[in-house]
Amino acid sequence: MTNRKFTGDTLIIATHNKGKVKEIAALLGDHVAHFPTAGELGLPEPEETGLTFRENAELKALAAAKAAGKPALADDSGMAVAALDGAPGIYSARWAGPEKDFAAAMARVERELPPGAPRDASFICALTIAWPDGHVETVQGEVHGQLVNPPRGDRGFGYDPIFVQDGYTVTYGEMEPHEKHAISHRAQAFRQLVERCFR
Ligand code: IMP
Repeated sequence: MTNRKFTGDTLIIATHNKGKVKEIAALLGDHVAHFPTAGELGLPEPEETGLTFRENAELKALAAAKAAGKPALADDSGMAVAALDGAPGIYSARWAGPEKDFAAAMARVERELPPGAPRDASFICALTIAWPDGHVETVQGEVHGQLVNPPRGDRGFGYDPIFVQDGYTVTYGEMEPHEKHAISHRAQAFRQLVERCFR
């Protein structure tokens, strides 16, 4: 099956998070003229009922594309700790609670890691473009690394202060943002998406 290319000039961003919209607009700005958001269009936010990053990205993108009658892009991302069977995984945001307390979420990761367990972890980002007819194109970027304790650096967000990518010595929280943005799971996913749908 051949991949479907994105050919329009308007791509709905199926997120209500303004930070993400900015980042996406910067990454795809060469290929897309307009990025209205699901929030601006008043589209409802579906519940993230999927059991994988891919399922959640697809259900969010499909809900927006069908409601708006235009192609829509959604992402779903998180951190998976090998010794915790992939937790927090798709629940990465939810581990921080309604207060978005990532210090608490990082402390919970450390508390739940059995003593002496391997400290391998991955960040994963699934990205989907969905069309109103139900077609989807989904890609997934993934980076591997090690968890450190205590957390280091305040430049990033979420679990950045406890993650050191393989081949590096600083955490994502200590890294220059432009350096992280060139190597991260999200960067990889966007590169794949551009190859697949925009070239
Ligand atoms: P989403 O917005 O539902 O995709 O939730 C993603 C959650 O995963 C975020 O709230 C963060 O906790 C975590 N996460 C995803 N990507 C990163 C990253 O690059 N650094 C740190 N945490 C991340």
